[in-house]
Amino acid sequence: MNAKVDPTQCIGCELCVQLCPDVFGMEDNLATVIVDVIAPDLEAACRDCASQCPVSAIVLSE
Ligand code: SF4
Repeated sequence: MNAKVDPTQCIGCELCVQLCPDVFGMEDNLATVIVDVIAPDLEAACRDCASQCPVSAIVLSE
């Protein structure tokens, strides 16, 4: 699974970084994905991030 953050939507709340620090980081006050491929054991947490992002800026793809 891969994740992307839409920089035009992200409001920099850092929720995804707190929930999934091994996948998301902050850069210029916006979230960014720091891995190419999400490890299988982190996929469930990433789905939580995507569903809890207040502006639906996280896009997951298989
Ligand atoms: S949870 Fe959403 S809005 Fe908040 S930092 Fe992450 S991608 Fe941006």
